[in-house]
Amino acid sequence: MAQDCIFCKIAAGDIEADVVLENDHIIAFRDTHPAAPTHILVIPKKHIPSLTKAELADVDVLGALQLAAARLAQEQGLENGYRVVTNCGEDGGQSVPHLHYHLLGGRNLTWPPG
Ligand code: AMP
Repeated sequence: MAQDCIFCKIAAGDIEADVVLENDHIIAFRDTHPAAPTHILVIPKKHIPSLTKAELADVDVLGALQLAAARLAQEQGLENGYRVVTNCGEDGGQSVPHLHYHLLGGRNLTWPPG
């Protein structure tokens, strides 16, 4: 756990979140500022600052994140499609420095993103 990391605090249960899935590797919760009717964040319990900082030793965690996103998409009824995205660094638009995948769905998502 990293000091002063809001997502580490959510993973530890120190800050409340609307949790929709949790296992040994990950926790998933609803985004407080949803950009789509379904907007869930899937994060590793381990503090990894961004995908850029992930290592080979994190491969199980990275797999768990993606599988959780796909499972949640099914559970949330996103059979018409969805998007899984991770923002990296300043130009990527990352605002929370703890790796997270956004699961977005429930509307037609345009491409390319802004
Ligand atoms: P990013 O800009 O890609 O780093 O995404 C960070 C996301 O975290 C944003 O969509 C925020 O709305 C969301 N967020 C920040 N704090 C919280 C929180 N305490 N609970 C749920 N979502 C949060």
